[in-house]
Amino acid sequence: MSVSILKKPSVYDNVIRQFNKAADLMTLDQSVRKILASTTNEIMVNFPVKMDNGCIEIFTGYRVQHNNALGPFKGGLRYHPMVNLDEVRALATWMTWKSAIVNIPFGGAKGGIRLDPSKYSLSELERITRRFTFALAHNIGPEYDIPAPDVNTNPQIMAWILDTYLSMVPPKERQRCIHVVTGKPVESGGSLGRNKATGQGVVFCIEEWAKDNDFDLDSAKYIVQGFGNVGSWVARLMKSHGARLIAVEDVTGAIYKQDGLNPDALCEFVREYGGVVNFPGSEKVDHETFMSTEADIFIPAALENQITEETAPLLNVKLIAEGANGPIDTIGNEILQEREISVIPDILCNAGGVMVSYFEWLQNKRSESWELDEVDTKLQKKITNAYKRVKETTEDFNTDWRTAAYIVALSRLEVVYKERGIFP
Ligand code: NAD
Repeated sequence: MSVSILKKPSVYDNVIRQFNKAADLMTLDQSVRKILASTTNEIMVNFPVKMDNGCIEIFTGYRVQHNNALGPFKGGLRYHPMVNLDEVRALATWMTWKSAIVNIPFGGAKGGIRLDPSKYSLSELERITRRFTFALAHNIGPEYDIPAPDVNTNPQIMAWILDTYLSMVPPKERQRCIHVVTGKPVESGGSLGRNKATGQGVVFCIEEWAKDNDFDLDSAKYIVQGFGNVGSWVARLMKSHGARLIAVEDVTGAIYKQDGLNPDALCEFVREYGGVVNFPGSEKVDHETFMSTEADIFIPAALENQITEETAPLLNVKLIAEGANGPIDTIGNEILQEREISVIPDILCNAGGVMVSYFEWLQNKRSESWELDEVDTKLQKKITNAYKRVKETTEDFNTDWRTAAYIVALSRLEVVYKERGIFP
């Protein structure tokens, strides 16, 4: 795999650089290296949808299936104007590593539609989702490729995908297909705890880090970028520790409050007004001020490439817990290492979502519904074990956490490929 040095690295370039660093250090088998360095299938669909005004618009959607050596392809669907093949490839590849690190029998995939969902009515979004599902239907399936929510998608969208998919299979098979998608509303076969799962996993990782570093979370100050599913759940769950949320940034801007923002009230506010800016009692600050806020922990929970050559020097925190996928680019990562700022990498830190998706998939297959404490206990055990395994690997290879997380994932995949060999 080669990476162009002439242009600013893309998100997928960052994945490849991370992969190469780990593969070199662990001397990954050359054949396995070639296989994992490419995706399996890259599906792009253009499809027409009738808008509320009667006109037709054409949308472009993607599904990239990176690898399914450990189990069915698995990964979210994103609705965003910047969705493109390079980004989806990167996100699909990270999903393979994530499932391998936390040891669940899934591979990696990701998809999305290039659109700004705020420009469409609910009924248009429903038709777009249903038509996208129809276009993808032969490439997804409950035992083959299982979508889930990601940026700007939610349980309602998963329910429309489920309903459309079920309409396309023979009636006798429908009850066996409910696990074609995870992150569904609970009433439609979703799991208790799936909505908060990614945020919960981030908080479990922060708790482990605090134990390891003799750090008192009760007196911690933290900042969050992105106040959607992941960011808002982290904030609500951190409250139980007494930690203070002092700054938040979302797509509408950034706010600050020295003595702490109330996460529940902020969630209500965002639900009503669509963003964090103008939250009563807070001060509006610019992006640079937000990034420079003095705090203990920073939880990026928005998009990729937020911590870069320009912004990494501004940060004034001890720990970054990556709720988002790929929030730190390669140069940003090097700067943070020089500055000795700890990072819990995305493929470990935000794996709570795919873990509880796995629990939902299992419950659907077994016609069960688990209690919330059962889900939380299983999640905590799995993510804590993964955290410890990655920590041991940092020591065994004398390397950083991200590279160690890659080594854990790649080692698991390497064993499987060596055992099975390559057909024919
Ligand atoms: P979401 O759509 O619920 O929320 C996204 C948030 O990011 C919103 O508050 C939005 O305003 C904010 N945002 C968007 N652009 C921004 C910008 N330029 N600057 C600052 N804020 C911006 O999405 P989500 O599901 O919470 O996902 C957030 C991140 O977490 C993504 O990287 C996603 O891939 C990752 N992730 C999500 C899950 C999940 O279960 N939802 C699981 C693993 C990882």
